[in-house]
Amino acid sequence: MQLKDKIAFITGSASGIGKEIAVMYAREGASIVIADLNKQAADATAAELAATGAKAIGVAVDVTDEDQVNAAVEQAVAAFGGIDILVSNAGIQIVHPVEEFTFADWKKMLAIHLDGAFLTTRACLKHMYAQGRGGTVIYMGSVHSKEASLLKAPYVTAKHGLIGLCKTVAKEGAKHNVRANVICPGFVRTPLVEKQIPEQAKTLGITEDEVIRNVMLKETVDGQFTTTDDVARVALLFAAFPTNALTGQSLVVSHGWFMQ
Ligand code: NAD
Repeated sequence: MQLKDKIAFITGSASGIGKEIAVMYAREGASIVIADLNKQAADATAAELAATGAKAIGVAVDVTDEDQVNAAVEQAVAAFGGIDILVSNAGIQIVHPVEEFTFADWKKMLAIHLDGAFLTTRACLKHMYAQGRGGTVIYMGSVHSKEASLLKAPYVTAKHGLIGLCKTVAKEGAKHNVRANVICPGFVRTPLVEKQIPEQAKTLGITEDEVIRNVMLKETVDGQFTTTDDVARVALLFAAFPTNALTGQSLVVSHGWFMQ
């Protein structure tokens, strides 16, 4: 029970990586806020957790909307009495070559990944600072926080940007015992990635199998996808770490695709 009595606000946790983190945190004793655009899926995930004896609620939020984010965090605080852990995880992917990206898609990507991270951080930090018991902020970066790939200009830009936000929050939060870190996964077979496989095959003019072998997993040490469980384990490490010794860091979990 490494997170006993902690309260975790996890965005994008009705699916994929965020959901796995919610399950692991619940197992470790945390109360969970499933904060997601998809309210029906958020409620269903919260019900699944509650069925295991955990405390969990689903909250509807679009992380790009300032008022919705503030309201969702207040709803979480009203339900559980505070916030100890923020996992800023909600994200989408849109792939095009730079010269074909519409400005609207560029702005949508930066809004979800960067505005969402800022807005949730600001709303949660206020409570973490006021509570006086410290806290942890975890950003879902990517190998694309360190490395570029074809067709992903706004994603790569936003994921690099999260490292800057994290380092600043780590410095400002230190005196309140609030830590900030980034997890940088390689490819994980969630709906976000399943959608990209046919899209990339079409754009690059190769088969779906070639996208997996020669694009997604080519640089890994063993040709393996990273799993949601791999990422959730790192999220638990960051959430449970007790001191400011581990702050301002970004940890790559990618089967060796990217080595620092
Ligand atoms: P996913 O599609 O399975 O889940 C994303 C969740 O975010 C969904 O439940 C969706 O409803 C929610 N969401 C989308 N837009 C939202 C918004 N505006 N406000 C609130 N919620 C919103 O995707 P995933 O693969 O689990 O991705 C989660 C995070 O992990 C993303 O930030 C993604 O960039 C990152 N990531 C994924 C991979 C991968 O290979 N899957 C690798 C590295 C990083």
